[in-house]
Amino acid sequence: MITIKSPREIELLKQAGNVVYQTHQYIKPFIKEGITTKEIDRLCEEFIRSKGCTPSFKGCEGFPYSVCTSVNDCVVHGYPSNYKLKNGDIITVDIGACYKGYHGDSGWTYAVGNISDNDKYLMEHTEKALYEGIKKARVGNRVGDIGHAVYEYATKHHLGVVREFVGHGVGTSVHEDPSVPNYGKEGTGPLLKEGMVIAIEPMLTFGSEEIDILDNDLTAVTYDGSNAAHYEHTIAITKDGPILLTGVDK
Ligand code: MG
Ligand code: MG
Repeated sequence: MITIKSPREIELLKQAGNVVYQTHQYIKPFIKEGITTKEIDRLCEEFIRSKGCTPSFKGCEGFPYSVCTSVNDCVVHGYPSNYKLKNGDIITVDIGACYKGYHGDSGWTYAVGNISDNDKYLMEHTEKALYEGIKKARVGNRVGDIGHAVYEYATKHHLGVVREFVGHGVGTSVHEDPSVPNYGKEGTGPLLKEGMVIAIEPMLTFGSEEIDILDNDLTAVTYDGSNAAHYEHTIAITKDGPILLTGVDK
């Protein structure tokens, strides 16, 4: 069921989203060679809790950590571990925070030191694909318009579109209806209405779009070992256009 949020609920979602945004700003300078992904998880969790929130992903579908840390060929749901980041890695930190029962969700890919031109290209165009999707998140459009825009942009730039994971509604649950795929037909799918809050999150690969799931049943990696990037914002649909809840409008 797709829920329409009241102005009071949007305000709470804004506060949760803002903590997610602040957590990204906080963790960014720590993302350097030598830090372990477990340390990133711990720092994010402490920061989220210091803001009066709880980490949305802890215990979500059995995930035992606070944030997802997906390195290089890992697409999503990477488990924090004792792996030490190396110069040239790329890492997606996916952060969720819950404030008074309302969630915010945003993943972002970061470079560790000096990365390859291929990875720069992958990151630049995955981020741009996200904004192509956000532009379509307008009252009167449909979910398929968002997916279509993301897919067109990604394939025009020869990047693979992972289909197994999709964006979603956000509210009192971190994952709600509707599903927001990174592909679709224009003019199809649920109608976008004022008061809907959704996460848009392209997951693009430099090579094959096929994935494998690891033995923990959650972590997804690319089948061919090529790197993946992932950019996500939670947004509110308003009569004046989309509002970023997990970021600041550029
Ligand atoms: Mg999400
Ligand atoms: Mg996320």
